[in-house]
Amino acid sequence: MAKNLILLGLPGAGKGTQADFIVKDYPVVHISTGDIFRANLANNTELGQKAREFMDAGDLVPDEITNAMVADRLNQSDVEAGFMLDGYPRNEAQAEFLDSYLSNNNKSVSATLYFEVSDSLLRQRLLGRGRADDTPEVIDNRLAVNKAANLPLVDYYQRAGVLHTIDGGRQLADVYRDVKEVLDNLD
Ligand code: AMP
Repeated sequence: MAKNLILLGLPGAGKGTQADFIVKDYPVVHISTGDIFRANLANNTELGQKAREFMDAGDLVPDEITNAMVADRLNQSDVEAGFMLDGYPRNEAQAEFLDSYLSNNNKSVSATLYFEVSDSLLRQRLLGRGRADDTPEVIDNRLAVNKAANLPLVDYYQRAGVLHTIDGGRQLADVYRDVKEVLDNLD
């Protein structure tokens, strides 16, 4: 059966790297809402114009715009083979929208992979990126904000019975071995 996946994890949890591994091995279309928004900004589309002010301010784009964009993408035929959502859902309202979209289309979430990494390691990894705006204070704030948003989603998918928590604080290959174990055991 097609695998319909969701990736969850705070910045620095290694989600992007694991996503790159997954798309090489499994027939899933990688759907990153951040990438789609950035492409629309770059091409100055109508969607990009609507999203710009929120993105520039570092805020979430309103759910109405984001949900419509995701539904549009999920309506495309390549997604039939399976998909992997990255950066979406970002809050419970989006998760509920996704569930109703999927059930209306006779689909469901096969697995949500949550890459769990301790605060201290996340801080260390983000500091190690050495970006100018990545001061310890900015990093702590970004982690706190993201954590507050992330935890309800972890609970949501736990309740739905599809959550797989993976210890992301290890070597990439070890993390990916656990990912494969989860994905290979989905029916
Ligand atoms: P990202 O690269 O995932 O951090 O996304 C970059 C920006 O795109 C975010 O700061 C938001 O403004 C917007 N964005 C991405 N995904 C979502 C989402 N699921 N809901 C609302 N805004 C989003």
